Amino acid sequence: MNWQLLSAKILAGEIASRAEALAVLASPGEELLAVLDAAFAVRRRYFGLGVSLHVIRNAKSGLCSEDCAYCSQAAKSTAPVSTYAMQSADDILQGAREAQALKALRYCIVTSGRAPLEQELNTVCEAARRIKRDMPIQLCASLGLVSADQARRLKHSGIDRFNHNLETSERYYPTICTTHHYRDRMETARVVKAAGLELCSGGLMGMGETPEDRVDLAFALRAAGADSIPINFLDPRPGTGLEGRPRLSPADALRILAMFRLVNPERELRIAGGREACLGTMQVLALYPANSIFTNGYLTTPGQGHAADLAMIVSAGFHVTDTTHA
Ligand code: SF4
Repeated sequence: MNWQLLSAKILAGEIASRAEALAVLASPGEELLAVLDAAFAVRRRYFGLGVSLHVIRNAKSGLCSEDCAYCSQAAKSTAPVSTYAMQSADDILQGAREAQALKALRYCIVTSGRAPLEQELNTVCEAARRIKRDMPIQLCASLGLVSADQARRLKHSGIDRFNHNLETSERYYPTICTTHHYRDRMETARVVKAAGLELCSGGLMGMGETPEDRVDLAFALRAAGADSIPINFLDPRPGTGLEGRPRLSPADALRILAMFRLVNPERELRIAGGREACLGTMQVLALYPANSIFTNGYLTTPGQGHAADLAMIVSAGFHVTDTTHA
């Protein structure tokens, strides 16, 4: 495969084919830098050298009814995680101030559970109204499955974006979750877009899915109109359904990011959970296809820290940006 020709084709407005996407995932090690360079050419067109920082807030942790095999907060998980009920709007507002101090473009309010309770939704809406009165930070909510009415209420309160990951292909999804269906997730993605919210939707790599499943997900997210695509890499936690599964290699993680960039050229692409564990010393290379990271840790695991993230960004010639696009 001529990787430069592939990026030129995509920059000319054509769509990568499934065969090309699969070729990226199967590319040999000696072509890894050429693959990343092709993805970087596309990333640079739409996002320059900017890296947007997102800070996540676990506003309700654990005690979930669902059985997502990868998740420490799942009903069947015995992984040691903090469990607490919904935080107050005051607590969530304080988290936004801390995110603002870290120059985060976006603050993501996340709750565990299948779907938000009425009181939880009201708290998120109240927090969003107060945050928007005080500071310019963009807001994302990730509250599980939501109805059309709930999505509209979130939009009306000032939430800009809603996260709901499709996680993997429709074919593979029943292997990792039995308490809800892929179609439920697709429906939430649909009502989010219909409410005028931006859709953040991505996946988790390394759960045993095939390259075809990864490509299916990349095209499903394109079709769903995902504005933002977070890619997580499984860091298997003891006590979860995927305990003991091997981590992806750094090279495979980079190929996956390059493939998502080439299939979704102008969409925000974020390196999400498992960045440090999976990419190790090669994580800086992930900024060539991706233009966004979570900083200051994840839902239930710490990251390398904000200072190390900034040093990584600057050392490679990138910069923190306060806009989504270049
Ligand atoms: S991913 Fe969300 S819905 Fe699934 S078990 Fe974890 S907290 Fe529950």
